[in-house]
Amino acid sequence: MRYKKGKRGMIRIKWIREFSDFLKRLFFKNEVRGPAIYCKSCGSKEAVFWKSIKSKYSLNGRVIESVFSIRRCLHCNLKRVDPLLTQDMLLKLYDEDYYRQYLDNADARKGYFTDMLNTLGGLVRKGKILDVGCGDGLFLRLAREDGWDVYGIEPSGTAANLAKERHGVDIFNGLPEESGFKKGDFNAVTLFNVLGHMRDPAPCVGALKELLTGDGLLVIETPNFRNIWYRYRLLENKLLGIDDLHIPRMIYWFDLDSLSSMLNRFGFEIVGVKFINYGAKTPAPKPGVPFIKKAYLYYRSIVKASCNALSALCGSGDHIRVMCRRRG
Ligand SMILES: [Zn+2]
Repeated sequence: MRYKKGKRGMIRIKWIREFSDFLKRLFFKNEVRGPAIYCKSCGSKEAVFWKSIKSKYSLNGRVIESVFSIRRCLHCNLKRVDPLLTQDMLLKLYDEDYYRQYLDNADARKGYFTDMLNTLGGLVRKGKILDVGCGDGLFLRLAREDGWDVYGIEPSGTAANLAKERHGVDIFNGLPEESGFKKGDFNAVTLFNVLGHMRDPAPCVGALKELLTGDGLLVIETPNFRNIWYRYRLLENKLLGIDDLHIPRMIYWFDLDSLSSMLNRFGFEIVGVKFINYGAKTPAPKPGVPFIKKAYLYYRSIVKASCNALSALCGSGDHIRVMCRRRG
């Protein structure tokens, strides 16, 4: 893990992107223009078909197998799942089963959140912090123990109840643009792996800008889909039909270009970028898991470790953490 400060960091990895674009043009010529989709990041209407993804998900007690399209913006490279489910359908996908995987993984998440609090401590004065899409509230509990005055927003009623019951954190159950929090009141606003799950992230980013103090810090962490680990998972999906891309929950696929484009459009200045490669360790399989599945899990952890090493060598990561402030 290492920091790349603003524009300088982006220039450092520019040649890697250009080379990857060159290879893409050489080997992937399947881009087909379809009906215009308004890009939520840069506002362009030029999007092309990029890939099809096989997906299997549960909705209203039924298992649904579908194929979704991914559309790519020609200007900023933001990718979007098509078609979009309605907001009501999306909320139903975030049930207790969905959050259980995170509850079972609390120790690893504590390390991850502590790293985030250390990042914040060096960049902004401690005061009020708002975590958007705060899930079960673990980060807010740790932030409170670290001396922050904590607030949360969570659209899922299931997660909002978990936050109250497990960590005693009282949060607003709804969308950021509906929250009614006082403008210019927060020293830090955080979104961890949330932006890509929003049906319409643009009004949220605009609303969050208003909530920050003049020198407040917005921190967004999101999967970096311009990374070898996601390329591998796309290949697995195509060849073996393995559904590991969280579709249709994961709606927007960001990389540094598309995220920067969105933040610039809403008047933010990027002050720091950190690429992160999350751990390759596989949790011990539960008793009774068939041998073939165990072998696959170990194989996958080896692939992940290899992707991490290659990614780190190129100065990239499977996640991007961007720190920014209001411009002007
Ligand atoms: Zn765009």
